[in-house]
Amino acid sequence: MSQVSDHIGVPTKEIKLTPKQIERFWKKVEKGDGCWNWKGNKKESGYGTYTYTSKIDGRQCARAHRVAYTLALGQIGPGCSLLHSCDNRLCCNPDHLRIGTNNDNIRDRLERNRMRSGVKLGMEAAREIRRRVLKGEAKKALAREFGVTPSTIRCLCQFKTWVNHKIWGL
Ligand SMILES: [Zn+2]
Repeated sequence: MSQVSDHIGVPTKEIKLTPKQIERFWKKVEKGDGCWNWKGNKKESGYGTYTYTSKIDGRQCARAHRVAYTLALGQIGPGCSLLHSCDNRLCCNPDHLRIGTNNDNIRDRLERNRMRSGVKLGMEAAREIRRRVLKGEAKKALAREFGVTPSTIRCLCQFKTWVNHKIWGL
């Protein structure tokens, strides 16, 4: 089976725990009315991590919210990522988690303006520039107004950047 990468390079793997490991896992989750916060180890990415030893695969490090979802609702299919509807990466409440495709995940991140590298324009600005270029406004003037280079505007209009708008029909 080919492994499909989750949000940030974490392969989608089946999570199999012994009853003892399950018990140990839930002890690190603070259950409440709203978010169930993870009290165990955290990664720099802000996600909780749960480390356990599998008889077959040895030492495993899984994302806490993925473990919680798997225990509550079943395995997460390959190529799917798990999204937080509450935007709290430490949250392990299955009610706050939903399965999405990796595209959903990218789109979510775009909408929340989380793309880290090289994006100088937000989605709204990108849309507005395209609209105005179509209406005939000069790219040079738009570049000045938005504080980017004319080549940025050109790439944008040729769908070399913000290409996902085209795919998603935005
Ligand atoms: Zn939550």
